[in-house]
Amino acid sequence: MNIVLLGAPGAGKGTQALRMEERYKLKHISTGDIFRQHMRRQTEVGNLARSYIKKGQLVPDDVTLKIVSIALEEAGNKDFLLDGFPRNTRQAEMLDELVKIDKVINIDVDKAVLTDRICGRRSCVECGYTAHISALNGSACPKCGCEMVQRMDDREDTVRDRLRVYEEQTAPLIEYYGAKGILVNVDGMGSPEEVFAEIGKVLG
Ligand code: ADP
Ligand code: ZN
Repeated sequence: MNIVLLGAPGAGKGTQALRMEERYKLKHISTGDIFRQHMRRQTEVGNLARSYIKKGQLVPDDVTLKIVSIALEEAGNKDFLLDGFPRNTRQAEMLDELVKIDKVINIDVDKAVLTDRICGRRSCVECGYTAHISALNGSACPKCGCEMVQRMDDREDTVRDRLRVYEEQTAPLIEYYGAKGILVNVDGMGSPEEVFAEIGKVLG
């Protein structure tokens, strides 16, 4: 089963994706993670992506589509979980031309809590694990021991722009996939365990 995870920044897509990858043996494809790897390695794609990401804007579709098609090729026959893609209607249409999506899980979270969740988020520089600062003991990653830092685009001024981009460009995908009959809404307001249990009810 090929799955797309939808949700606003801070909805908990990355957290759930890691759990789903393990439980359902899916190939996790996170466009945000791929861009961050490129930025760390200072590739051409990374340097271009950085100029958009730090402003809270979407990286241009042609670049994003290229990295996604490479990732899909690498997944081979394995079922995949797309996290952070598609983010606008054009990307969704292009995706439909490439592969068959079986289910879209939309993690639904009240707008009011998103800003706090994102601004308080810390991310492991090494393994990508994320947690809210209130749940961390110091700055070491509980998974791998490397450093947990605030992403440059998790600062408050950038977050405002990301949320606006989400409303304008990504939220319409809820209707896009709803019309295809493959959308499932999951309540994202609970703990990570509770949300994962909700997803379990959908996926079995
Ligand atoms: P979040 O889901 O918390 O917003 P991501 O890690 O998924 O964070 O994405 C971080 C940034 O990477 C986005 O704000 C955007 O600039 C860029 N990005 C990620 N995925 C896409 C995409 N599908 N299309 C365009 N830009 C993307
Ligand atoms: Zn780590």
